[in-house]
Amino acid sequence: MTKDPVKIAVQKSGRLTPRSLELLDRIGLDYDRSPDQLLCVGRNMPVEALLVRDDDIPELVRDGTCTMGFVGLNVARETEYQRRANGQECGFEVVQELGFGQCRLAIARQETDQWNGPQSLQGKRIATSYPHITQHYLDQHNIDAQVIAFAGSVEIAPALGKSDFVCDLVSTGATLAANKLIEEDVILESHSVVIRTTRSTSAQQDYWMDKLTQRIDGVIRVQHSKYIMLHAPIKALAAVTRLLPGSEAPTVIPLQGCNEKVAVHAVCRENVFWETLEDLKAAGATAMLVLPVEKMLA
Ligand code: ATP
Ligand code: ZN
Repeated sequence: MTKDPVKIAVQKSGRLTPRSLELLDRIGLDYDRSPDQLLCVGRNMPVEALLVRDDDIPELVRDGTCTMGFVGLNVARETEYQRRANGQECGFEVVQELGFGQCRLAIARQETDQWNGPQSLQGKRIATSYPHITQHYLDQHNIDAQVIAFAGSVEIAPALGKSDFVCDLVSTGATLAANKLIEEDVILESHSVVIRTTRSTSAQQDYWMDKLTQRIDGVIRVQHSKYIMLHAPIKALAAVTRLLPGSEAPTVIPLQGCNEKVAVHAVCRENVFWETLEDLKAAGATAMLVLPVEKMLA
């Protein structure tokens, strides 16, 4: 085992787990799992992943048990606001957005209640699993309300007479609708992020964390990128290249035995839809091929 590995805290079993493990794979980490399955030890780099509950990730990164973590922004912010409310330093920073685990933390009301903006919360009870983010929002709007912390199933609090409003995580809105709650204000747009400890780390850990950060950037960048190849009449070249979505200067290659046409290759940093191909065809392009991009390093 290496002396100073980079330790990444990852959710053990939950919504973020499959994409987090896939990300470790895509940044090239080859690992063995410990017998209890809670530790992944890198075989090809001094990197370990610790599989834990998502709520524990910010604290593990703050106290230096882990050097980095993949966690929902909602969980990271809740810990940050809790620590700041207690006059403590945060101890970690958000360094990258991962683009999965999208959801929002929103205030929802009962059908019988009115909503005239945040002031409707004045003097009311709000049930939430995110008491510190909720309190931060109330403070920003100068509202005095009672925040009631719930560990889970926040959405049933109003029906039980425990609260007037809820502040809960929403993705499709189906859970709120099933409980006859109406979403009003979004107080945090969330997605998974990389957090990094603000404690000092060794030169080896810094080297590998920077390398992983670069690779994660590459993985995120290629997610929507496509490699497109096509043939275009020379006279239509300008029109065709203008239609390529999000591409920088394309590569233009002569075609053997053909003076009127060239081959055009380009990386498009946006998805290439059927409509784009149809527009390219109308502009004169033929033999179009769209391929996924696996890795990219700028
Ligand atoms: P753990 O056992 O690790 O504590 P959990 O039950 O708290 O798991 P999950 O439900 O797996 O957590 O959610 C993990 C994260 O997924 C959330 O903190 C949030 O960032 C994100 N997420 C995305 N969509 C939703 C959603 N609809 N409801 C809840 N969380 C969501
Ligand atoms: Zn959790």
